[in-house]
Amino acid sequence: MTETLASTSREAAAALDSADPLAPFRDRFVIDDAVAYFDANSLGRLPAGTPARLERVVRGEWGRELVRGWDHWLALPLEVGDRLAPLLGASTGEVALADSTTVNFYRLLVGALDARRERRAIVTDRPNFPTDRYVIEGLAAARGLEIRWLEPDPIEGPTFADVAAVLDRDVAVVTLSHVNYRSAAIADLASITAAAHDVGALVVWDLSHAAGSIPVGLDENDVDLAVGCTYKYLNGGPGAPAFLVVAARLQAELRQPIWGWFGQRDQFAMGRGYDPPPDIRRFLVGTPGILGLAAADEGIRLSVEAGIDAIRAKGIALTEYAIALHDAWLAPRGTTLGSPRDPSRRGSHVAIRHPQARGLTAAMIASGVIPDFREPDSIRIGLSPLTTSFEEAWRGLSVLRELLESG
Ligand SMILES: *Cc1c(COP(=O)(O)O)cnc(C)c1O
Repeated sequence: MTETLASTSREAAAALDSADPLAPFRDRFVIDDAVAYFDANSLGRLPAGTPARLERVVRGEWGRELVRGWDHWLALPLEVGDRLAPLLGASTGEVALADSTTVNFYRLLVGALDARRERRAIVTDRPNFPTDRYVIEGLAAARGLEIRWLEPDPIEGPTFADVAAVLDRDVAVVTLSHVNYRSAAIADLASITAAAHDVGALVVWDLSHAAGSIPVGLDENDVDLAVGCTYKYLNGGPGAPAFLVVAARLQAELRQPIWGWFGQRDQFAMGRGYDPPPDIRRFLVGTPGILGLAAADEGIRLSVEAGIDAIRAKGIALTEYAIALHDAWLAPRGTTLGSPRDPSRRGSHVAIRHPQARGLTAAMIASGVIPDFREPDSIRIGLSPLTTSFEEAWRGLSVLRELLESG
């Protein structure tokens, strides 16, 4: 294995693919081999089963059942949530699919802040994903709260020590991304959650780049609240409904700010006042998009079938391989690694930094290699365990090497 990894030949990449237990999953997706796709952490590939599932839902269910479809559609947000739960280390009845990550983040953050009304501070980090930062800023402005901004190492991400340094009993909520969208640094969910709880604060974790790429362990670590996307590593499709997680022990206590009829105890009694049930249903709002849920379900099923431990093992192997190629081919031509070198501290993408990252990204895309540019100087190489092959990584990074060679 080590010998194979040390080799930068195309044959070595093919050998890694032959030995990869998840390799057969590539056949379960629509994959055009002319393209090296390094952006499945932004929009996952199309599962081969999704078009037929959508066809069944559209023609068979919507077309034939019409409004009677709601007899089974109503259960879908929680059914798919229960299917997703094991990938997050959550339990049945703790996960729902609804709305977007941004909206769910807002709703759960409000619920957490309301549960700690006497406290005045929110802790997050400057490199956090923009939508999270903006929602936090908006809530802080509306409520006159203080934001304690962490300034962690840009590659290694926020550590336990960064968080511990700003915690006291005025902190209502600590909220971070589990895997940073730029560097892929993993924030230590266990120790940071425990430290927040020690001062009586609640945690909201954004799992957008963690769900379907690393094991999360929400229940095991007593996590209060979490949100995340299903269109990244979970391959749910563009704009697929996001998920939200509320620990069972908090469900009866927490409220969210949008009192919609899907969060009502007996929805179709059309009753006079809002009276939410004491469970995950109170975190639903309005009519769910059934086509999006069906597509999300197809993607989630594939990750569940593969198993999160196998997914994690492949994610580490792929990122280690990409870093080996980076060190051999790219670093001598002026790049540096923008991700942690310790695989236990890294999610399933790697950031490659170069002063001309923006132009290099455009040139890669023109050559059929699709990464993402991330400000200010990162080429983000997403390596999705179910859909990226070692040979694909080899092909894509060869193109970057050639571009650097030709200046
Ligand atoms: C991708 C991503 C989002 C996206 O939120 P949307 O509401 O789906 O646009 C949010 N947070 C993080 C950390 C992300 O990586």
